[in-house]
Amino acid sequence: MVEMTTTPRILDGIAIAGQIKAEVAVDVQALVARGITPGLAVILVGDVPASQIYVRSKVKTCGELGIFSEMLTPPESITTAEMLALVADLDAREDIDGILIQLPLPKHVDTKRLLEAVSPEKDVDGFHPVNVGRLQSGQPGLAPCTPAGIMEILRRSDLPVAGQNAVVIGRSDIVGKPAAMMLLNASATVTICHSKTNDLGKVTREADLLVAAIGRPGFVTPEMVKPGATIIDVGINRVTDAAEVEEFFPGNAERAATFAKRGSVVVGDVHPAAFALSGAYTPVPGGVGALTIAMLMQNTVTAAKLRRGISLEKK
Ligand code: NAD
Repeated sequence: MVEMTTTPRILDGIAIAGQIKAEVAVDVQALVARGITPGLAVILVGDVPASQIYVRSKVKTCGELGIFSEMLTPPESITTAEMLALVADLDAREDIDGILIQLPLPKHVDTKRLLEAVSPEKDVDGFHPVNVGRLQSGQPGLAPCTPAGIMEILRRSDLPVAGQNAVVIGRSDIVGKPAAMMLLNASATVTICHSKTNDLGKVTREADLLVAAIGRPGFVTPEMVKPGATIIDVGINRVTDAAEVEEFFPGNAERAATFAKRGSVVVGDVHPAAFALSGAYTPVPGGVGALTIAMLMQNTVTAAKLRRGISLEKK
């Protein structure tokens, strides 16, 4: 049985995202004063409802921060060749600094080829192999938004990274791998775990800093956590079973009300009982998820500056 040692600190992703967006808005104003309006193009293929919600939110945030945005909505039937032509057009446009292809794409479209067709200078998602390489070698470039958001949460919450034992569960190209690389660049001692890791709990119990990016609700249980650790929960999982909701949030009236209203609640990859042991943690919702769009906005401004040779002064 593991004893609780401290009252955990809740890392408020919404507040941190608000700070970043305010800073981006100031940056945008400074660029506009020089005659440059940063521009983001978002390509949304077909009618995936979740993607539509994300894209709408991205376009709305652009408007709030003074970033020009354009949404392209080709039909589900678009071919890889037609998509490549669309990307080439956007790539050639002077008023577009960032190109975002909302994933997932229909199965018949070659996603990898498309992501590589966006020029690295306009790759605001940070998925192009050139940007992956720049991140690895510590050069300025465009880094994936969700892991960049994790680093901002840690930095702005004054949580130590250098010298910490950081364990990342998950090795996806979008979250796990880049998060591990960013933590390494910030001088943490990093271990990456995945579905084939032996005795996962033994590894995670050594973590001062635990990042969970798995995609399984409540996967990280109290036995897997070192008391006092910082836990970053990247997971966004929709739970639709009433018994499961009660298991995760026993007697929690707010979650029960959400479930009654929507028929589901969002649960992270970390079991709420595990948060209770931590020193600090990001809640779900309201943690890492809140940062992703803020970081996309920041990347769009960074792209606008890098492309024109404007320095990226540090705050
Ligand atoms: P993914 O499916 O691409 O990768 C999941 C990783 O988890 C894999 O590397 C796999 O090896 C690992 N894994 C699976 N089962 C495991 C097990 N039993 N033990 C150890 N490792 C295991 O997922 P992803 O795209 O990296 O996303 C992970 C989670 O983060 C999802 O819940 C997703 O919704 C969420 N997410 C959130 C944001 C955001 O906050 N904006 C962005 C992206 C993803």
